[in-house]
Amino acid sequence: MSSASASSDAPEAMLEISRLEVRYGGIRALHDLSLQIPRGSIVTLIGANGAGKSTTLRTVSGLVPPTAGSIRFEGQEIGGWPAHKIVALGLAHVPEGRLVFPDLSVKENLMMGAYLRRDRKVIASDLEWVGEFFPRLRERLRQLAGTLSGGEQQMLAIGRALMGRPTCLMLDEPSLGIAPLLVELIFERLVALNRERGMTMLLVEQNASLALNVSSYAYVLETGGIHLEGSSAELKNRPEIQAAYLGH
Ligand code: ATP
Repeated sequence: MSSASASSDAPEAMLEISRLEVRYGGIRALHDLSLQIPRGSIVTLIGANGAGKSTTLRTVSGLVPPTAGSIRFEGQEIGGWPAHKIVALGLAHVPEGRLVFPDLSVKENLMMGAYLRRDRKVIASDLEWVGEFFPRLRERLRQLAGTLSGGEQQMLAIGRALMGRPTCLMLDEPSLGIAPLLVELIFERLVALNRERGMTMLLVEQNASLALNVSSYAYVLETGGIHLEGSSAELKNRPEIQAAYLGH
């Protein structure tokens, strides 16, 4: 990526990360990380365990403070902002591990995602909208979240993030620990959200083959920095990606 694109406003990039650095005490988890997520695209971030993928998402969503660099969303600098202000701008994060409230019902979990909303009619319409996308959730609104299957809990975590009608969704390992059939279903829904509703997505995935199939552009993270980037179609054909991530 050229330094010119990192420093310009790049209006087509909905989310732009430039020269980001994050430290956990003495440990530098990210360094000189630059990414661009064009409006309406699905961009994926792949990399080995500990490469810094989750840290990237957690920093963008305001859970971890950056130590240097910039994060711009819709042209506005949001680096270091509190998480609630970032989510209010329309940038939502589905964290790794689903993190639903097991003792609350599906509906109550979804309502947690509406905490920034005041208008009951808007909340009801958001609930309807999420239910249309995930009929399995609509059928189970009164069921306790802890009794859902892993895949259904992942749908719920995504549904909760969608309740505020974000314009950009960041997903951390949505396929992790989920039965293949449900992974397929979830990804079909994510692609539909992108194609039909124009939702922009930043996807972190350990299933690189899946991630490269649904995304248009990919970044490969290694020890906290970008090791490689390119169109997903191109990266899929690169021998080093096939050897390291696609099991060829
Ligand atoms: P994984 O897929 O295993 O979650 P990842 O690519 O998401 O890996 P991160 O979780 O972002 O990687 O971790 C990046 C680096 O930062 C690792 O070296 C990790 O040990 C370190 N790290 C992450 N969270 C913390 C924390 N809260 N305190 C200290 N170090 C951390």
